[in-house]
Amino acid sequence: MISDVDLRHLRRCVELAAQALAADDEPFGSVLVADDGSVLFEDHNHVASGDHTQHPEFALARWSAQHLTPQERAAATVYTSGEHCPMCAAAHGWVGLGRIVYIASGAQLAAWLTEWGVPAAPVAALPVTAVVPGAVVEGPVLELVNDIRALHHRMHGPSDGSR
Ligand SMILES: [Zn+2]
Repeated sequence: MISDVDLRHLRRCVELAAQALAADDEPFGSVLVADDGSVLFEDHNHVASGDHTQHPEFALARWSAQHLTPQERAAATVYTSGEHCPMCAAAHGWVGLGRIVYIASGAQLAAWLTEWGVPAAPVAALPVTAVVPGAVVEGPVLELVNDIRALHHRMHGPSDGSR
């Protein structure tokens, strides 16, 4: 179940994704929230430099490994604008973070990019649970999917702004 608290953190992910886009980066944003509801860490994509491993979900996993106990990691929630890619899903699994809530699925993003003629990514859009079978994952979150689609459309879509 997606709660109002979940939606608040997911809206922050949309803001972070928009910040990334404003910085000429790809529009992805993520927020790490502790068991008590406090925001621990947040980040957006940093791949514009050419390092395509600089995804926010990977940054959250590394931050959590450095700053949280295993118990704190397991109790934390990762909110993110788009479902983890396999690299980030693996990092999530290796550090033992808890619940994932994503707005748009990897399959949705891949379908949009295909529709807009963007060349296929070099990494398959596997569901998180195909990489981390025990992961607790919720999404897509329909209330916010169009916000995420719009950000990706601004980056990759036809410039006439159709749809
Ligand atoms: Zn990733």
